[in-house]
Amino acid sequence: SDPFSSEVKPRILLMGLRRSGKSSIQKVVFHKMSPNETLFLESTNKICREDVSNSSFVSFQIWDFPGQIDFFDPTFDYEMIFRGTGALIFVIDSQDDYVEALSRLHLTVTRAYKVNPDINFEVFIHKVDGLSDDHKIEKQRDIHKRANDDLADAGLERIHLSFYLTSIYDHSIFEAFSKVVQKLIPQLPTLENLLNIFISNSGIEKAFLFDVVSKIYIATDSSPVDMQTYELCCDMIDVVIDISCIYGLTGDEAGTPYDKESMAIIHLNNTTVMYLKEVTKFLALVCFLREESFERKGLVVTCRCIFSLGYRVSV
Ligand code: GDP
Repeated sequence: SDPFSSEVKPRILLMGLRRSGKSSIQKVVFHKMSPNETLFLESTNKICREDVSNSSFVSFQIWDFPGQIDFFDPTFDYEMIFRGTGALIFVIDSQDDYVEALSRLHLTVTRAYKVNPDINFEVFIHKVDGLSDDHKIEKQRDIHKRANDDLADAGLERIHLSFYLTSIYDHSIFEAFSKVVQKLIPQLPTLENLLNIFISNSGIEKAFLFDVVSKIYIATDSSPVDMQTYELCCDMIDVVIDISCIYGLTGDEAGTPYDKESMAIIHLNNTTVMYLKEVTKFLALVCFLREESFERKGLVVTCRCIFSLGYRVSV
């Protein structure tokens, strides 16, 4: 069986005040919209926006707070939704006054916790692109303190909130999403282990497992991740998908630009080689290696090994 079948899809709720940036995050992360285009997104009046994300490893739903979301409305079955949720992301607009957002956060978290104490509470301090580094840290400290003080006042200090500084104008939103998703994957330690074994037995220096549609990385080996490497992976995925869309689809098939045959090699001008290969319907392996190792040609065989190992995780 497929370890990444729909029953184990990480389920994420994206919540926050209206205009905090939820739709923009969804469009940029899951639909390849460019950040500037989000300026023209229409506001919707729906409380709940479903995103099936059939093409992605992650499934999620957006909830707005247009003024009052009524937790007491009997027709709104929030309990059922919280029960099926792995992570609740609460988006706070850092460029706006956040008093209202914090009280909403508190109300939501306490409600959700009562229904499902296993939910991961993730707070995105969003739109930080306009802020200086000092200012970012200061905002984070202030929001962190106020949110935790509110919980302590309610005697709920056992609820843990994680905080991330995010913006759709750089890779921080993808990085934050990756961390949120990784926490929801029970096989993560196994996958990390496999990637460690994989790189230690090949000339590969760094390996990532990516959700192709969202460019969220699901796992990587235990060597540190630097932002530039991550950005290169994202760029490579974009290039592969774009080229496949242009040249890879034949007219009559309703095919996708990503399938079992998907594979790409890019030689960078600093003697590094990047290698991308399909692993499952949603996931790709992206690796970095030196040109010398690449020329030793052992690579493809080793990759096959990890794929079969990868599948064995599922059994
Ligand atoms: P929603 O009501 O929560 O879905 O909010 P929207 O996604 O409609 O976003 C509201 C506005 O915030 C839009 O004009 C976006 O362009 C803007 N926005 C979203 N994310 C960011 C961000 O990271 N930085 C900046 N500067 N603006 C953002």
